[in-house]
Amino acid sequence: MPQQYKTLIDGQWVETGQVLDVLNKYTGEVIATVPLADLAVTHEAIAAAARAFETYKKVPSHARSSMLEAVADQLWQRADQLAEIISLETGKALKFSLNEVQRSSETFKFAAEEAKRIHGETVPMDASRFGENRFGYWVREPVGVIGAITPFNFPLNLVAHKVAPALAAGNTVVLKPASTTPLSALMLGELLMTAGLPRGALNIVVGAGAVVGDAMVTHPVCRKITFTGSPAVGEQIIKKAGIKKVTLELGNNSATLIEPDADLAKAAERCVVSAFANAGQVCISLQRIYVHRDCAEAFTKRFVDKVNALKVGDPLDPACDVGPMIDRQEVQRIDAWVREAVAQGAVVATGGRAEGRMYRPTVLTQVTESMKVMCLETFAPVVSIVVYDDFEAALARINASDFGLQAGVYTNDIRKAMQAVNTLEVGGVMINDTPTFRLDHFPYGGNKRSGLGREGVRFAMEDMTTIKMVVINHN
Ligand code: NAP
Repeated sequence: MPQQYKTLIDGQWVETGQVLDVLNKYTGEVIATVPLADLAVTHEAIAAAARAFETYKKVPSHARSSMLEAVADQLWQRADQLAEIISLETGKALKFSLNEVQRSSETFKFAAEEAKRIHGETVPMDASRFGENRFGYWVREPVGVIGAITPFNFPLNLVAHKVAPALAAGNTVVLKPASTTPLSALMLGELLMTAGLPRGALNIVVGAGAVVGDAMVTHPVCRKITFTGSPAVGEQIIKKAGIKKVTLELGNNSATLIEPDADLAKAAERCVVSAFANAGQVCISLQRIYVHRDCAEAFTKRFVDKVNALKVGDPLDPACDVGPMIDRQEVQRIDAWVREAVAQGAVVATGGRAEGRMYRPTVLTQVTESMKVMCLETFAPVVSIVVYDDFEAALARINASDFGLQAGVYTNDIRKAMQAVNTLEVGGVMINDTPTFRLDHFPYGGNKRSGLGREGVRFAMEDMTTIKMVVINHN
């Protein structure tokens, strides 16, 4: 029997009358039902968050910090249970789900620490000839109700990246997790309530993005929207939000460049994980590998051998490397993109076929920049290898993208590393690593169509607060 979940509105676990089925992404079976929110439930959640804000904003930071710390501990202690839920609802291999829960625990821990560090500065008023005899300082205040909208691919840690900094800074939240993966978000809600979160400070609405998400985006009481998801939806949100803060964490067609002086064994090993973890459904998944002609053959052989050794199948198998994609439509989409690339001249070095809900880890060579697998976000277990002769020209090819989230460069030449750092138009450059590297406290976010603003707990909190300037005239 599928497990029947309730949802969290105004501190109560409630049903809404309608339910949404949640599938096991490997078998296709219904594993749970969750209450489906409509417009009325969403407005109720926003109103509850607005009421709660009036008291929650006065909770002292040491108390907010302790509560977040307790959640961090619980996440760590219940990691196995939560990892299994993530694997079931996303299809993510268990070892990567476990890593996601442990990172979520760290995200809450960072938020617990940052909660105690929200402060402003004094302003040297007499620096202006008009400012003598005045004392000035600024403080940070929470913005109020935050609407958080999250994608399917990290259903716990990307929720944590919004909920933890929002609550740390004294805001209240209405959370809309992805409809395909709401279970770990509901479990997190339970941990927060157990840790003593006041009623209404977090409300969870599960429902269609175009209804529930849109209602949050356009509601005047939501003072900030924090969104992670596709560029197409991000673009709609920014157009509709009106005058409110908006953070957008969107997609990428991430690239890594490999110079002949790099450690090829290390590079090949990292590139395989970076391209295929979570079946390539990661915003910073490695999609384009630019490898210098002098090491192209050696690198490609190592890389393809490692790809062929990946274990594809049941995500709950502890040895599994690559599980299913989120749904069959996504498998069909990427299969069509690969076929199109092959028709245009690409060569399949390995993979290139669907197996039910899974897509075989695929390596393409002989690609061109205009193929969909290169210039759009694949968001699938498909990576392309491009051979280059000139370092500067290869950097220019990485930059010739609509996206700009993160990029990687493998080289042991410090001048080339610095040239890449100074040239690449991205939010993060990883030297001797792939674009897939992320820690939860560093500033993270993209340029161009990859988004607006930065996350990483402290940076998210800056954007979840507003500055108040105070001037005291003591003349
Ligand atoms: P998505 O289709 O854009 O959905 C993301 C969220 O937006 C879901 O909760 C979705 O609800 C909701 N939504 C859909 N339409 C909406 C609308 N009109 N108004 C408001 N909300 C709406 O993205 P996805 O397929 O779940 O995730 C994949 C994308 O996320 C990729 O492009 C990936 O690169 C990006 N991503 C970026 C980062 C980053 O940090 N930069 C991290 C992870 C993923 P439903 O589920 O109900 O449709």
